[in-house]
Amino acid sequence: MKVTDHIANAKGETLFSFEIIPPVKGKNIQELYDNIDPLMEFKPPFIDVTTSREEYVYIDRDGLLDKKLTRMRPGTVGICASIKHKYDVDTVPHVLCGGFTREETEYLLVDCHYLGIQNVMALRGDAMKEEKYFNPIQGGHTYATDLVKQIYNLNQGKYLHEVIETDDCADFCIGVAGYPEKHLESPSLQSDLKRLKEKVNAGADYVVTQMFFDNQKYFEFVEAAKAMGINVPIIPGIKPIAIKRHLQLLPQVFRIDIPQDLIDAIDDCKNNAAVREIGIEWAIKQSNELKAAGVPVLHYYSMGKSDNIKAIAKEVF
Ligand code: FAD
Repeated sequence: MKVTDHIANAKGETLFSFEIIPPVKGKNIQELYDNIDPLMEFKPPFIDVTTSREEYVYIDRDGLLDKKLTRMRPGTVGICASIKHKYDVDTVPHVLCGGFTREETEYLLVDCHYLGIQNVMALRGDAMKEEKYFNPIQGGHTYATDLVKQIYNLNQGKYLHEVIETDDCADFCIGVAGYPEKHLESPSLQSDLKRLKEKVNAGADYVVTQMFFDNQKYFEFVEAAKAMGINVPIIPGIKPIAIKRHLQLLPQVFRIDIPQDLIDAIDDCKNNAAVREIGIEWAIKQSNELKAAGVPVLHYYSMGKSDNIKAIAKEVF
């Protein structure tokens, strides 16, 4: 079922969902299941599975090192299919511009369609570590809007190189990213919102936000988005702080602010076990306020660990 249908069927009740990261290539999937199992009692209607890309050095026929390439890492679609089958839950594979050619994107979507996966999250992806700016691969998309357009076209039977008329056309529900504190490369929040509007106009059905720690930022973002004519559901993304280093890491990587009260509470912690508790408490407070405000879904960034998400869900759902 589509994410938007789950939201419609909930009739205003806030749903619980979370995001997981595929294990590193070659690792066993059991650890992932061990972290999903404890969260199933909160009945997530859908689970997101992230995608990342990796860099490798291409070696030509003469065994000489050629240029560095980036490609998507394997796992996302396979894990989506296996979770869907094992838990009877909808899954949302993340699809990136980075590391994918348009053709590879199409093949991935065709596989998703065969597997009964009805949702995809369309994202650009970040620049690689040593790059200053995001560089699409040859034959890949530059912005998430272009990827949304490709998925939207496919929903109409318009494949890259042919039009296929069939009653069994793919019909993906498309999610995109939104940034209550603006995307790090964007010159202003207003400009970033205009880009978000372009994604929605291109066919996006819902938005999931970047993590934030001050709910006011989310409320203002939703208001500004509505004022701009963005009328799709905007799902808040919540990440509980888990280690002291997150205080530096999260603002550096995601350009988000951390409220002073939270910083002070974490500064007072003697160890990371105490930090984890503070992170849980803060996320419970955030979640309860967002739920009271009637958000459609509370979407948690689990980073592959479920103990803190479970502690939060127990208090909120
Ligand atoms: P876009 O919407 O393309 O925007 C990127 C930047 O370009 C923005 O600054 C925007 O304002 C600007 N822009 C957009 N269109 C134009 C245009 N036409 N001209 C000029 N500027 C433009 N990353 C991963 O690698 N894997 C994941 O699984 C993943 N999951 C995520 C899930 C969520 C909910 C979120 C919020 C982020 C996720 N990310 C993931 C991170 C994401 O890939 C990065 O934040 C990336 O830098 C931007 O992706 P985007 O889809 O928002 O890009």
